[in-house]
Amino acid sequence: MKFVFLFLLLPLTARAYTLNNSIGARFDNENVNVRVGLNPTPCDNVDLDEVASLLNEAMDDFWNTVSTSRLQLKTSGSENTGDDNYWTGELCLTGGSCGGTPVPATSDIIVTCNKNTTNFPGASSLLALTLPNVISGKDIKGAVVLINDTNGSFGDLTRNQKIAVLAHEVGHAIGLGHSQESSALMYFKIVPTRTTLARDDRLGVTYLYPVQMDLFGAGCFLGTIKTLGDGGGTNSFWPTALAGLLLSLLLKRPKKESAASSPA
Ligand SMILES: [Zn+2]
Repeated sequence: MKFVFLFLLLPLTARAYTLNNSIGARFDNENVNVRVGLNPTPCDNVDLDEVASLLNEAMDDFWNTVSTSRLQLKTSGSENTGDDNYWTGELCLTGGSCGGTPVPATSDIIVTCNKNTTNFPGASSLLALTLPNVISGKDIKGAVVLINDTNGSFGDLTRNQKIAVLAHEVGHAIGLGHSQESSALMYFKIVPTRTTLARDDRLGVTYLYPVQMDLFGAGCFLGTIKTLGDGGGTNSFWPTALAGLLLSLLLKRPKKESAASSPA
């Protein structure tokens, strides 16, 4: 029984990730396009051509590496937005109240620059700001990543730091909030030297986008996490506990029972 309880208790301390909103919204499509939006007026301080060239690595070195997540982020270079409001607008939830001209609604994920001081007040140290700004029910339809164009902070980063910052912001765009885990890419303080995801990041993206496993695989409960966890938003305890219980029962074969039950 101790063996079983160990599995049940592990999920209580095993995760620190949070979700980006109280409803636990996520993209309903497992293939999400990430593109750079070129404004009619060029950014003052951000090189969007460079950003477009870095996005591939930001996706493939981080979020596309998680085998337990069905999410695949595709990059498609840059495109003209045809709208300077991406550059000058205020970032608001579409359909919500907005003090100024809003950043336009979009589909999938668009990355661009923004110089609105409501988004980046004063001499803001924020490198970027992200919001899934088009949400229908519990589905994210579109998200915007705005790189701070009020100063040159982003441009002063090294290449790898820029990649880590872009990956962190896309983490918000796909529905993740900040993590308390200091090793995580989604740690609440941006640490732009990350080169890979931490376990907590992988748990978070797997919670939002669980891969559908075969019935007899050890992770077969992963496919039901979405349903079981929806009520609490950030609640992943019971589906994870159930998976732990299943695993413990599978592993607790009669001939190994004495070894499994003995004090460690
Ligand atoms: Zn963040």
